[in-house]
Amino acid sequence: MKLNDLAYWQERAASLSIQRLAYIDGRFVDAVSGATFAAFSPIDGRKLADVAACQSEDVDLAVAAARRAFEAGVWSRLHPRERKQCLLRLSQLIAQHGEELALLETLDMGKPIADAVLYDVPETVKCFAWYAEAIDKQYDEIAPTGEDALATITREPVGVVAAVVPWNYPLMMAAWKIAPALAVGNSVVLKPAEQSSLSALKLAELAQQAGIPAGVFNVTPGLGAAAGKALGLHMDVDCIAFTGSTLTGKRFMEYSSQSNLKRVWLECGGKSPHIVFDDCPDLDKAAQAAAAGIFSNQGEVCIAGSRLYVQDTIYDSFMARVQHFAGAMSPGDPLDPRVAMGAIVDEPQMRKVLAYIDAGVREGAALRSGGKQVRSASGGYYIEPTIFDCSSQDLSIVREEIFGPVLAAQKFSTEEQAIALANDSQYGLGSGLWTANLGRAHRVSRRLRAGLVWVNCYMDGDITVPFGGVKQSGFGRDKSLHALDKYSDLKTTWFNLGS
Ligand code: NAD
Repeated sequence: MKLNDLAYWQERAASLSIQRLAYIDGRFVDAVSGATFAAFSPIDGRKLADVAACQSEDVDLAVAAARRAFEAGVWSRLHPRERKQCLLRLSQLIAQHGEELALLETLDMGKPIADAVLYDVPETVKCFAWYAEAIDKQYDEIAPTGEDALATITREPVGVVAAVVPWNYPLMMAAWKIAPALAVGNSVVLKPAEQSSLSALKLAELAQQAGIPAGVFNVTPGLGAAAGKALGLHMDVDCIAFTGSTLTGKRFMEYSSQSNLKRVWLECGGKSPHIVFDDCPDLDKAAQAAAAGIFSNQGEVCIAGSRLYVQDTIYDSFMARVQHFAGAMSPGDPLDPRVAMGAIVDEPQMRKVLAYIDAGVREGAALRSGGKQVRSASGGYYIEPTIFDCSSQDLSIVREEIFGPVLAAQKFSTEEQAIALANDSQYGLGSGLWTANLGRAHRVSRRLRAGLVWVNCYMDGDITVPFGGVKQSGFGRDKSLHALDKYSDLKTTWFNLGS
């Protein structure tokens, strides 16, 4: 991988072949209606492709193919070792095509190429390999019955799983759903976000090459209100695995109740608190993590530490350090491997973030740094890392998920107050705290209402641990062996052994 050569990535981008067709029943096809939607690059606003815009008739075809494959048992009843081999091949193909996939992510949604190469792609490779390796090591259960009976509790695939995913980590979010769902033996229909369909369609090419049978894995790109809604309301989809905003998550609950009561797993929004106590063991490390925690991936991260709470005794000196590290993250061309912050995904998202910045100023927060759109001559969408000093929880920039590079910092004085401020949110996804006091680390981490707590670090993790939230951040967990439960049903079989 050429990690210091802008010209290399520009050249590769210019000659990249882009798949624009839906993948249904093992074939790449246009939408039945012939409709398309344009994929634009947020780097410079240029059109990348006209992507097949799937609607309900295309979703019907994909779900029917998925069901046929499931019932035929070409995947669902394969020996787990054979599914493992196939998913390992897919993992290897993703690694081999890592540069193309990374480029598609960067061109399509604006993330820095270095992040796509060093994080998104390797994590996706690892995710497929890990679930492949896990699936032939799962045992079922036998209940403690009397000697006249044998009761087995077995895990069965649920059937047809629809994965509906967002645009911030397109490939990785898809992998977190698809890999465990396929490993268990389900058929899958993936609906990528309309802002970032291209890596999902490349993934379909690789799945075909890896030998995943026709119909087992399908990709139906399209608008949320068309393809996404059709999956949500479909009478033959057994399970929706959703990652996206809380608003859309609620819609999927409604779709389920209006249709076949399909199970719905939701990974939704966040407004994660990051707490720094004055006994923090390393203030520079914490400040760097606070800056990276909100500005990496342009702040378009569900677990972004968007609320920073700093003990009053160190507030001024700590915020000066955060500002210093933020300064090193000013946005640039995401194809430049030295750039740490790229483009905002599209113009509406950029406008939304700028409107929140205006609201912050209007509602009385003090703008410490950033706050402006930059690089507009590029034709793309870029915003400076932005830091506000806040003195109230009631500001919209403190309460609402912005999904952009905007940090709302506040002082606190006591441990109790820090916990209360951190928990004062409709969301409960990530959270972080920095302290050298072991007792405090345990006390506070237990009381934070969040699915994830980082102590003396932020955003660290691994495929081995669950990922997800509480409150309106959703329920269900991606990653780890626990994710396999989302895509399995428990079946009890009672054998009468009586004489
Ligand atoms: P979104 O809710 O707008 O879209 C997510 C997906 O839902 C897309 O595929 C979209 O096409 C589809 N969709 C949109 N409207 C729909 C509708 N009416 N019916 C059916 N489907 C519809 O979210 P987004 O803007 O793509 O992503 C940002 C959000 O995702 C943020 O809130 C972020 O916090 C969240 N997110 C959460 C996690 C997590 O693990 N909890 C991870 C990444 C992103």
